[in-house]
Amino acid sequence: MNAVPPNSASLIAALTGVLSDGGLLTEAEDLVRYSRDWSGDHFSRPLAVARPASVEEMSALMRHCHAERIAVVPQGGLTGLVGAAVAADGNEVVVSLERMNRIRSISPIDFAMVVEAGCILEDAKRAAEERDCILPITFGAQGSCRIGGNVATNAGGFNVLRYGMTRDLVLGLEVVLADGRVWNGLKVLRKDNRGYDLKQIFIGSEGTLGIVTAAALKLFPRPTQIETALVGLRSIEDAMALYARARRDCSDLLTAFELILRGGIEITVRERKDFPDPFHKPYPAYVLIEVSGGGLINLSDMLVNFLGSAGDLVEDGIVASTRAQGERLWLYREIMVERQGRGGRYLRTDVSVPISRLADFVADALFELGRARPDALPVTYGHVGDGNIHLNVVPPEGMGSEEIERLFEEAEAEIFAVVDRYGGSISAEHGIGRVKQRAFLDRIDPVSLDLAAGIKQAFDPNHILSDGRILAPASAVDYR
Ligand SMILES: Cc1cc2nc3c(=O)[nH]c(=O)nc-3n(C[C@H](O)[C@H](O)[C@H](O)COP(=O)(O)OP(=O)(O)OC[C@H]3O[C@@H](n4cnc5c(N)ncnc54)[C@H](O)[C@@H]3O)c2cc1C
Repeated sequence: MNAVPPNSASLIAALTGVLSDGGLLTEAEDLVRYSRDWSGDHFSRPLAVARPASVEEMSALMRHCHAERIAVVPQGGLTGLVGAAVAADGNEVVVSLERMNRIRSISPIDFAMVVEAGCILEDAKRAAEERDCILPITFGAQGSCRIGGNVATNAGGFNVLRYGMTRDLVLGLEVVLADGRVWNGLKVLRKDNRGYDLKQIFIGSEGTLGIVTAAALKLFPRPTQIETALVGLRSIEDAMALYARARRDCSDLLTAFELILRGGIEITVRERKDFPDPFHKPYPAYVLIEVSGGGLINLSDMLVNFLGSAGDLVEDGIVASTRAQGERLWLYREIMVERQGRGGRYLRTDVSVPISRLADFVADALFELGRARPDALPVTYGHVGDGNIHLNVVPPEGMGSEEIERLFEEAEAEIFAVVDRYGGSISAEHGIGRVKQRAFLDRIDPVSLDLAAGIKQAFDPNHILSDGRILAPASAVDYR
């Protein structure tokens, strides 16, 4: 059964009735802000934007949409990178979580906080720090993305190797289901083996199974020491050998291990005159290393000693002597991420392979890409401690848009074919959405697809929630 686009006058009348003042936006100029995602690659005007201010309003809204078969798409901070949060062709109502942004509670004794889904990640992190704790989800978009989006995409980031992905940090959820019922799984228990762990089904489901309205999240003691180094290396193999040693020598104090190939450093140096080449000569690979913790161990000495002991691998390095210097070293990565496309379009990939095979994978993928499309400019970096690499592709300057499309298609096919050979994943962090759907459906086995379709049918029988993300749209699938 498909959702149907309602006549707009009756839609406005009905939704105005279930939302409080300012809860429904319908004027074209008000909708613009909800129509384009961070990448700029996806623009589509929604039918309307509903902004519930409470769980009760969200529940009433969904009850109505379910009964009337009105298609909706939940939206957080629009920083997702797979085109899932913008409406489909003027046929969907965007459900923005922005008015549900309260921090409901923080308990430093439970090391837990309960946050509404519309809370911006950075605000949640700041609130945790005010209570001498940290919420460890950390990445470039944290000033814009929202907790519900992080849960729905199972976001990762720089600190996954120490603290895990969002899934590892969720203790409980509150979710409004497609039919408006509220599932209250908002617990801060560390251990709870009563039956199925239902929260897991919503984490990473990209808005297709329910609307997350609040999350209980794990906190950790706030580190009193954070030490950062940037090192230059001869190769990715050496970077991975350094990672293996760091895991043992720095133990669980290792918080981040980020690889950037030379091309990425060149972007930062080109784009920002105040960021000179970090070392006297260029190196094929660079790694940002962070260790953090509290207590009695001097982490600065530990990092210096570790890098000294790895002199056979490390060609050159800088260890930040202040927090500000450490943050500046991270900017070499941040600036590269922001400026890699020169303000234009570029292909993003977000793949993973077993850590032990990452160096070979990158060499093979770059070789195949260079053979198929020598005109493409690859930009390679990633959370290599998690086996996760971004092998992005920038088109040559002046290329027309049709040719760019062809380049992206060919480049992605080459990279994904190598991912398949290495037993990897075509989506390590960003999800499937609409952008990766074809590649996902081409690879999923029939049993997994059957189970996934059954789950979708059970949670959203009228197919009103983010239809056409992850799985094909209801109109293209027989759900009987
Ligand atoms: C500069 C940059 C760096 C990034 N770095 C990383 C990184 O290191 N690691 C990583 O994993 N990701 C990264 N991302 C992508 C990451 O997935 C998102 O930034 C973030 O998790 C999405 O949150 P959002 O609030 O912006 O969600 P949106 O983009 O608004 O939505 C994303 C998806 O979640 C759904 N959704 C949103 N809110 C809800 C809700 N309350 N209930 C149900 N579904 C909902 C949407 O429908 C959509 O499917 C990065 C993005 C950018 C722009």
